[in-house]
Amino acid sequence: MNQSRKCIVHGCSNHSHQGVFVGDLCGPCFAYLTTGNIGPTDSFLSTVNTDSVALNNARKLVSSLATELIDLTKERDLLREQRDEALRLLGKWEEEVQP
Ligand SMILES: [Zn+2]
Repeated sequence: MNQSRKCIVHGCSNHSHQGVFVGDLCGPCFAYLTTGNIGPTDSFLSTVNTDSVALNNARKLVSSLATELIDLTKERDLLREQRDEALRLLGKWEEEVQP
């Protein structure tokens, strides 16, 4: 008798009669564990994958913000130098034109 089995992964409700099974794992759970690519499953692996993607996106954002902050800091320092030089030249010019 060929009875339908439930995928053994926590939270997964896929059954063997619904699609490919590899041992006790449904196709999507097996594929995720072996390739990292998540398929249609309501198991906790789907949550793990979503959290992982969100974490990676957050890391990329933090990294790009850090780079942007470094660039802005350099730009600020350059502008300060230019301001100081302009003030120095202005002071010199004022001294020269004062009677
Ligand atoms: Zn599964």
